[in-house]
Amino acid sequence: EATIEVAGLRKRFGATTALDGMSFTVGAGQVTGFVGPNGAGKSTTMRVVLGLDAADAGHAHVGGRPYRELRKPLAHVGSLLDAGALQPSRSARNHLLWLAHSQGFPATRVDEVIEISGLASVARRRAGGFSLGMRQRLGIAAALLGDPPVLMLDEPFNGMDPEGIVWMRTFLRQKAREGRAVLVSSHLMSELQDTADHLVVVGRGRVIADTTVADLITAA
Ligand code: ADP
Ligand code: ADP
Repeated sequence: EATIEVAGLRKRFGATTALDGMSFTVGAGQVTGFVGPNGAGKSTTMRVVLGLDAADAGHAHVGGRPYRELRKPLAHVGSLLDAGALQPSRSARNHLLWLAHSQGFPATRVDEVIEISGLASVARRRAGGFSLGMRQRLGIAAALLGDPPVLMLDEPFNGMDPEGIVWMRTFLRQKAREGRAVLVSSHLMSELQDTADHLVVVGRGRVIADTTVADLITAA
């Protein structure tokens, strides 16, 4: 059964066609790599799934229903868009405490997500001084507060150093092994080819190839 289902999404911004019949599914227990050049429609697709943009046509479901109909959306879907929005003057830990409080998650969860995200040594530093790679980790920590079975991460490798990239790959595999559905976008196939179970390759707002990595290797 599909955990995320995107079907026939169309979306225009003025004269620009962002989505032109985008359709694919994301299964539980897998890393689905969402790969394509900048402008292909990956962020717009994720924003439509999260109800942040309205599609002109088509539908996007999470667990069989639109995101806005989920009873506890933040406990269902954890997302990272634009390396997360953060409050620069707070420490990373205080930022997470504030988010946990405002979203109704227990404060005890904060130290758990700090540990999972590898932020323990910097959690008391001002988030505003963080590198992009560290902000990605902080955004992931925020996405994990509700322990969601679905993760949707937009370009999480951006700004990560080599150590961060290795960490991110291990993290993604671990979340899939826990049975979660993981959708992760990148403009670089190389970042995901060894990590994803399933690849959805997109261009110009639609799917160009939808394949398992095993099939891709067999075909090559
Ligand atoms: P990707 O995430 O694959 O880089 P996007 O979904 O960000 O692609 O963008 C798809 C297309 O839609 C691009 O041409 C982009 O410029 C355009 N676009 C996205 N968001 C907006 C917006 N808010 N206003 C105008 N154009 C947009
Ligand atoms: P219940 O009726 O089971 O208590 P609620 O819908 O009231 O469930 O949500 C439980 C918690 O989840 C609340 O504390 C609320 O802060 C949080 N929550 C639910 N939906 C949202 C949302 N869209 N944005 C932020 N927090 C939310």
